[in-house]
Amino acid sequence: MEKLRIAIQKSGRLSEKSLLLLKEAGISLNNGSRKLRSVAQTFPLEVIYLRDDDIPQYVEDGVAHIGIVGENEYAEKECKVDLVERLAYSRCRLSIAVPKSESYESLEDLNGKRIATSYPVILEKYLQEHGVKADIHILSGSVELAPSIGMADAIFDIVSSGSTLISNGLKEVEVIMRSEAVVIANQNLDADIQAILYDLIFRIRSVMAASNNKYILLNAPNENLQEIINTIPGMKSPTVMPLAESGWSSVHSVLSEKEFWSVIDRLRELGAQGILVIPIEKMIV
Ligand code: ATP
Ligand code: MG
Repeated sequence: MEKLRIAIQKSGRLSEKSLLLLKEAGISLNNGSRKLRSVAQTFPLEVIYLRDDDIPQYVEDGVAHIGIVGENEYAEKECKVDLVERLAYSRCRLSIAVPKSESYESLEDLNGKRIATSYPVILEKYLQEHGVKADIHILSGSVELAPSIGMADAIFDIVSSGSTLISNGLKEVEVIMRSEAVVIANQNLDADIQAILYDLIFRIRSVMAASNNKYILLNAPNENLQEIINTIPGMKSPTVMPLAESGWSSVHSVLSEKEFWSVIDRLRELGAQGILVIPIEKMIV
């Protein structure tokens, strides 16, 4: 049987989470030590491990059918591949930063400046769209050092917490792009491979939905039951069962992580007791 070949970053900020995602999707890999390639036991999938920079091209060429990369690499490489799923991890932004001591009012201040970056394509496009003419210096790493050694007046780089910028005496002045891990796919997959891909994406969505949701159980006083039900709508609607003690009901439902604390506070106001919140392992969406 044919196997879906997926390219994953060999070692870096995407590797661990990408492998964990596959594992949670029920795909176990026999990669004890670092290999270049591994074959899944329980799913028609083969993994090849590459530098993230190379993944878009390998997917365009069909060497890998699909790949997981940062959206920034997908945008930078401009390869002919499809973005098929957003994965919500390895979130970061790509920003312009200048030395803390420099005054900065607007993008126009970058006219005639030297900007160091590993993402020249994204930067060039953005500057062009905004009518700014700057010198782009391409560096493959340690971009944040460039201003302090006199190689550049500004940088365009990945930022997550911003602490790297601060420790290099820089301040973030423009956010140009937001990025997360994404699945990209070759544009000419044959039907068999396409079917395996759909199956994989279905599993990935179930894993992501589960991690965004909690199972909640609580005891509700019947006089506030309807309002409590309205507070936690759940997937379809909550399950409600009478308690042995009259005047009380047990309510079971699903709650999304985002609204979690506000909902819990409201439930307590409505007299809910014995609230239990339980992680969901898989959620079939
Ligand atoms: P490689 O050796 O494979 O070329 P790399 O050094 O280019 O690796 P990493 O630093 O491992 O890349 O980052 C991989 C991706 O993770 C980036 O392209 C970006 O999408 C995301 N990323 C980078 N830095 C962070 C961060 N601090 N927080 C969250 N995500 C990040
Ligand atoms: Mg790289």
